[in-house]
Amino acid sequence: MQIAQNSVVTLHYTLKDNDGNIIDQSDDGSFLYLHGAMNIIPGLENALAGKSAGDELSVKVSPEEGYGEKDPQRIQEVPKEMFENSAEIQPGVQFHAQGPDGNPVVVTVVEVKDEAVVIDANHALAGVDLNFEVKVVDVREASAEEIEHGHVHGPGGHHH
Ligand code: ZN
Repeated sequence: MQIAQNSVVTLHYTLKDNDGNIIDQSDDGSFLYLHGAMNIIPGLENALAGKSAGDELSVKVSPEEGYGEKDPQRIQEVPKEMFENSAEIQPGVQFHAQGPDGNPVVVTVVEVKDEAVVIDANHALAGVDLNFEVKVVDVREASAEEIEHGHVHGPGGHHH
């Protein structure tokens, strides 16, 4: 069957940046998502529509179809004394913080100065071109419960 709204899709994928560095890949073989439920970025989801098991494709996704452009307003300098364990604060360290809308966000330390720490609350892949190599492994229809929940259940999927 072809990938369409409410298909449960199993993929193998490798994600590289424009320099060919691997950013991410499917763990132990496969990745499952529910098509049409915004489980994955729009650029990849659109490219997969109509594909079937066995299809292989290369997809280049621009930031606007991926994780968005970097928002300079989400890069901020905060006083070092706000951090309890300032010895652990180094460039590249990530931690969870509360965003302006109250939702948790992952924040990355960009730079540590004498009195301040520069943090970036943009998604780690914001502003990055994403180059996917994808193989469609399986396509099945979602159950009514999966459609209601908006995600995949069962082996390889979400459990609760
Ligand atoms: Zn569920």
